[in-house]
Amino acid sequence: MQKKGKIFIRTFGCIQNTADSERVKAYYWEKGFSETDNWKDSDMVIINTCIVRESAENRAYGLINEVNKWNKRINPLSLRDISLEKGNFKHGVKKIKIIVTGCLAGTAYRDKTGKKLKQLQINFPEVDQFLPIDKISFQIDPLRNSKETALIPISSGCSNFCSFCIVPFARGPEVSRSFEEILKEVDGVIKKGFKKVMLIGQNVNSYGSDLNHSFDDKTSSWVHMGKKRIRSLFHVLLEEVAKKGLENISFVSSNPWDFSDELIDVIAKYANINKLLHLPLQAGDDKILEKMNRGYTAEEYLDLIKKIRAKVKDVRFSTDIIIGFPGEDEEAFNNTVEVCKKANFEIAYLNKYSPRKGTVSAKMYPNDIPQAEKKRRWRVLNELIN
Ligand code: SF4
Repeated sequence: MQKKGKIFIRTFGCIQNTADSERVKAYYWEKGFSETDNWKDSDMVIINTCIVRESAENRAYGLINEVNKWNKRINPLSLRDISLEKGNFKHGVKKIKIIVTGCLAGTAYRDKTGKKLKQLQINFPEVDQFLPIDKISFQIDPLRNSKETALIPISSGCSNFCSFCIVPFARGPEVSRSFEEILKEVDGVIKKGFKKVMLIGQNVNSYGSDLNHSFDDKTSSWVHMGKKRIRSLFHVLLEEVAKKGLENISFVSSNPWDFSDELIDVIAKYANINKLLHLPLQAGDDKILEKMNRGYTAEEYLDLIKKIRAKVKDVRFSTDIIIGFPGEDEEAFNNTVEVCKKANFEIAYLNKYSPRKGTVSAKMYPNDIPQAEKKRRWRVLNELIN
C-alpha cells in the first residue's frame, strides 16, 4: 500500500503503555502510515503519556515543546494544517502534527464536565489532537515491537485507588477482557512464532473480578488479605495459557491482596511460568501502608512471600517502592529497609514520591520529606537491593 506519511511514537511509563503503543502503531498503519524512529522525519508525533510520576510527565511536555519549536523554526508563517497552506511546501518543509494519548489524555476525557479537556486544549494549543486510548480497540492486531515476547493486555484500568496513584483517574475502573478473546490472541501469537507472552494489567491478578462469568465456584477463588476481598479468575486464565506449550509466560503487575493460594499452585505446577514474580511492596511500614490504602501490613506481605517460597521452587521477587511518602519518618523508612532485607528482592524499582494532582495523598498529606532526604533513602535501598 502506498503510505500516506510517517508517524513517530514516543512511549512513556509502564509496560501497559508500551502495549497500547503497539496497537496505536497498528491503528495508524491501517490508516496508511508507516513508522519512523526520527521524529523530525515524521508527519505526526504521537506521544503516549504517563502521569504516574512527575518526571515522566515533564519529559512528555519537553517533547511537545521541542516539536513545537521545530515547527515554528521551519515554518514560522503558520501553525495551521499544511494541507490548507500550500505555500508551506515551497521549501519542502511541513508542520509535524502533535497527537497526545495515554494517561494525560485519559484523565481529561474521563472528566464528564469536559472542563479538563478544555483546560488541556488551552494549556497546549500546539497539540493537534488529544486521543483517548480507549478509542484504540483491543480488536486491533498490534504491530509488536519485540519478535520474542508478545505483550497481551488482559485488563485495563484499576479500581484500587491506592492514595498516591493517578491510574484509576487516568484509565478508569478495571475492565477485564473476555477469556475467549485473550486466549484467541495467545493462539494468534503462537501461530506467528512467539515463544513468550507477558500478560498485562494494572492489577493483573484481579483479572475477572469485574466479569459476569459463568465459572463454577470451585474454579474461581476468594482472596483474603487486609480489607480487600476480591473474586479473581487470574489463576484459571494463567493455567489455560500455560497449557498452550509456550516457553515462558510472565505477568505484571500483580498485587499482594489478590495473590490467591490457587494462583500460587498454578505457578508452582507449570515450569513455563516465569519464576521472577513482581510484587509491589510500596512501603514496609504499616502506618504508611494504611495511608497509601494498600490493604495489607508488612507482616502480611512477608507471610505471602514466605508462602510462595515454600511452594514455588526457585522463585525470585522484584518489587516497587515509593520513597519519601508523606509522613515517612526515619523509623518508617527503617521498617521498609527491614522488610526489604527479609524479602530479599532481586530487583526493586525505586521511585521518589511526587504528589499527583487529584489523588487522595496529594489532597490530604503535605509532601513533607525533603528531596535531598528522598535521594539519600533512594541510595540506601538501591545499594541494598540493586
Ligand atoms: S493497584 Fe494501586 S498503584 Fe497499582 S495501578 Fe491500581 S491504584 Fe495504582
